[in-house]
Amino acid sequence: MKIFCIGRNYVDHIKELNNLVPDSPVIFMKPDTALLKDNEPFYHPSFSQDIHHEVELVVRIDRVGKKIQEQFAHKYYNEIGLGIDFTARDVQNIQKQKGLPWEIAKAFDGSAPIGAFINKKEITDLKNINFSLTKNGVQMQQGNSSLMIYSVDFIIHHLSQYFTLKVGDLIYTGTPIGVSKVNIGDVLEGFIEGEKSLHCEVK
Ligand code: MG
Repeated sequence: MKIFCIGRNYVDHIKELNNLVPDSPVIFMKPDTALLKDNEPFYHPSFSQDIHHEVELVVRIDRVGKKIQEQFAHKYYNEIGLGIDFTARDVQNIQKQKGLPWEIAKAFDGSAPIGAFINKKEITDLKNINFSLTKNGVQMQQGNSSLMIYSVDFIIHHLSQYFTLKVGDLIYTGTPIGVSKVNIGDVLEGFIEGEKSLHCEVK
């Protein structure tokens, strides 16, 4: 399976990192060794002193497809969940300055916790999903899918121009404002429409 991530998909987060609004989706990938399932803890790596949480809506592909038209993209996923795109911001900033790829800052072991999935039929309006993240009980991030620059359906269309999508592939759809540093001992909890769907302790 593949893990796709979309960068810079919320204007308020782009501003907080002083990035430019992209003219097409920013795409990167993580290997399956990045996944943390079933509320497994995240072990803080020693190569970074500035790991940030980025809470994101995650779509799970459940049908093989390539070159998918945007109007049919909804047929390729049935479940939506919440994940964290852990980012070594200090390492990423060095890579960005050098114009180098981001993998060592984004795709390391444990950098992709994933929570429980919800069938999209249980969600009233996919274009109006509220989600949030707390750190030690304090709300840090709050987002709504209506604020995405590129919608889930457009992202599926766009990715499938380059990559064959397969059953089980995950798409992390970008983070809203409020990213912050995590420290050992922190407890992160993610919520979709107020329902807890993700729990991650930093060890
Ligand atoms: Mg992200």
